[in-house]
Amino acid sequence: MRSTAIASHRGGAMLWPENSPTAFRETAQLPVDFVEFDVHPSRDGVIVVHHDATLDRTTNGTGPISEQNWSELSQLKLRGTESDRPPVLAEVVEIFRSTPILLRLEIKAGVDHQPYPDFEQLVATELDALEVLDRTIVTSFLLGVLSHFRPITTLAGRIWLVNPMVLNAVGGLEQVIKLAKDAGIAEIGLRQEVITAAAVAACRDSQLRIGAYAAHDEAAMTRMLDLGVSVFTTDDPVSALRLRRNR
Ligand code: MG
Repeated sequence: MRSTAIASHRGGAMLWPENSPTAFRETAQLPVDFVEFDVHPSRDGVIVVHHDATLDRTTNGTGPISEQNWSELSQLKLRGTESDRPPVLAEVVEIFRSTPILLRLEIKAGVDHQPYPDFEQLVATELDALEVLDRTIVTSFLLGVLSHFRPITTLAGRIWLVNPMVLNAVGGLEQVIKLAKDAGIAEIGLRQEVITAAAVAACRDSQLRIGAYAAHDEAAMTRMLDLGVSVFTTDDPVSALRLRRNR
């Protein structure tokens, strides 16, 4: 069995300021399998790497990212850094281009929790122009967002992130598996707390890969390694690598 892959979540948010150039440069030095990051569009269509739809928590700016042009966003400073500003997608791609680390790009929704209009096409076009479609996995909590990427056969993959509320709302794991298969999705990502040996077995029986998100402490990471999930995202990739190495 292939060993569990490790994804440095937001560039290792427990170790460095999340989604910052500093975090990505540090992650690029690690033998992780994936770097995870999130994207939003600026008002003028620049793809900005940032977690929240608003700027308030992580920068010295305020308000929604999508209501400001890149000329304004580029003046911001990320909290906890010397002088980092939120990076654009192309900059993150360049940090990892010379490494074997794959990109795990999460398409975020707007402040209204709705997908940004035509954002999927913008991201797909940019990934194509940067020639990294084949090393990028696109993830989203919204199945509809992922459907836009289905025709792009050169994309490395798509992962449907299913939060515990949605898992319940659709009627449990069997329904999630069915929805994923119908959508041509080969992998789902569940919150680590809800993943059990039975869930892993059910996915395996359906030829669906199952990964975990939010495995941040050692107990959670150890449990995910024991269960043999395909991948987990973690804010602490250094500890994750040590735990995997020492097995
Ligand atoms: Mg994310």
